Amino acid sequence: MDGQALKMGNYLVAYRLADKEQYAIENITTRQVIIVNRMMLEKFRHAIRENEPDSLFESGKLGEGLQAGGFILPQQTSELEIVRMEEMQNRFGHPEYMELWIAPTYNCNMACVYCGQHHVAEKGVMSEEVQEAIIKYLRSTFPGKKIASFCWYGGEPLLEPEIILKLGRQIKKLAEEHDVETWHRIITNGTLLNDSTVSILRELNILHAQVTVDTLPQHHNRLRVFKDGSPSWEIIMANIEKYCHDILVKVRVNLTARNHECLDEFLELLESRNLLERIDVSLAIASCFEGFDYVDLDGFAADQEIDYSLFEDTLIGFMNDKEMKEKLHAEKFRSVIIPTNFMQCAAKIPDSFVVGPRGELYKCALAFGDDQEIVGNILASDFPDKALESRYLGFDISQDSVCTDCLAYPACRGGCLVSRLKSQGLRNRCFISVPRWEKVLRIRLEQMIGARIPKLNPICLYPRDRRLGTVMIQSVADEVSC
Ligand code: SF4
Ligand code: SF4
Repeated sequence: MDGQALKMGNYLVAYRLADKEQYAIENITTRQVIIVNRMMLEKFRHAIRENEPDSLFESGKLGEGLQAGGFILPQQTSELEIVRMEEMQNRFGHPEYMELWIAPTYNCNMACVYCGQHHVAEKGVMSEEVQEAIIKYLRSTFPGKKIASFCWYGGEPLLEPEIILKLGRQIKKLAEEHDVETWHRIITNGTLLNDSTVSILRELNILHAQVTVDTLPQHHNRLRVFKDGSPSWEIIMANIEKYCHDILVKVRVNLTARNHECLDEFLELLESRNLLERIDVSLAIASCFEGFDYVDLDGFAADQEIDYSLFEDTLIGFMNDKEMKEKLHAEKFRSVIIPTNFMQCAAKIPDSFVVGPRGELYKCALAFGDDQEIVGNILASDFPDKALESRYLGFDISQDSVCTDCLAYPACRGGCLVSRLKSQGLRNRCFISVPRWEKVLRIRLEQMIGARIPKLNPICLYPRDRRLGTVMIQSVADEVSC
């Protein structure tokens, strides 16, 4: 203790472990968890309310452990400032890195029901002028960069293989001249993978292809159809099977209210075709895009919030399936469940854009096609528009007191910035699913105590009720009094 003035962490949540005289206390900032008895919980509560963290040191070594886990902090430490500093480091601390998403076209040969893009024909295909402007931009930006990550995007980018080839060759040459390491990937619907397009991808070192397959044909073929309504599952799967030796295919599975129960069967099917060893699988949750006029997305009404609890068992089952974990590198699934906003997001870093076919610039693929979110044009003499880009680079979530007061704040950090800006910070404010979060924690706690915990009941240790995401949790007073 060394006479140092101490305080209690501001983002601690307690959970009563049902049918036990045990409680778990989670520090959301450090993700550390401790299990305590009722007496210790009372001590915690007292220490927080009376601002007497020293009282916890009476319990011997425990105090030191609590300090190491960030439950107790030096008085001058501000968790808010730590989060802010990390955000700034993520944003401006890697000037040698840049990310460019290039969409050679808005067009697509498919018409998926949940597609968030408006395939307006006149927005069309990337002109020579825009392609030259991209190279000019890279020529001026590459000096000083060490790593440049490229994502070929659309619409369906493989509708324009010649543009990819021409631009890709020039990027490769420039990168070699400036000694910049490049990483390439492509997001494609997979229908246009053929000997010719795959040889272009290989020449350009675009060796990662994300292809969406929404589980079994009966589900996929209702969601992902060609423009004439014909099914795409067989074609896509045949292409994956044929080319997964040449490029690393990451199969993205969009879960919906109707298909999530078929996930196991789909994985078995991949295994029976010997694909599991050769591809990556990632899960996402299909969502409705605002402004779309379809009324039902495979079980979701467009104007309703998605009930994420539908997928909890599917997602968490994955995480706990050891066999599956080994096969599918299932750590990735964690990102679906636990917020990862502390990770670097290209929307918040300088020199990184999504370039549309007209040269228009966005800060994120989620904003692609939305004229309201354009931050400049690569054809303009001075781009991006500083005022528009500052909405992203200058965004400071620590100014939002609803978020900073929320117990989930150090993990969530305000959720997805683009979604927040697009919804003016109101609708879909919280990305965190508290029930999902609790389920993940419950599994961890079950492993710690070696017993099943049917349910976790969150309780607030602070003198007033606090939010945990969208859920208001009650102050502990009534909860622990005997
Ligand atoms: S393949 Fe992609 S871009 Fe094309 S319609 Fe489907 S979701 Fe939209
Ligand atoms: S859960 Fe919601 S209120 Fe809490 S920090 Fe995230 S966005 Fe803000």
